[in-house]
Amino acid sequence: MAKKDEEALWVITDHVCRFCFGRVLRSQDGALVRCADCSAQVKNKKVTELCACGQEYKTGGPVALKCKKNPEHIVGIGQEVMVEHG
Ligand SMILES: [Zn+2]
Ligand SMILES: [Zn+2]
Repeated sequence: MAKKDEEALWVITDHVCRFCFGRVLRSQDGALVRCADCSAQVKNKKVTELCACGQEYKTGGPVALKCKKNPEHIVGIGQEVMVEHG
């Protein structure tokens, strides 16, 4: 009984989309990973295949990025998960 993507139950991850920095969700069965904002998605892959982890800036040398929960986040203001420059 395959459910349609839209009917999947989503789990919020502590990662953000590499394209738009929106929050990345994964389906409860782990088969799908998608961005809550721009709807980019990958199938049967790890969250880190879609999030900003491991991405590098094209300019300024190799700087690995990493998703990180903002320890100073205030609910309602700004992003809970930010991208850290490794
Ligand atoms: Zn996105
Ligand atoms: Zn990440």
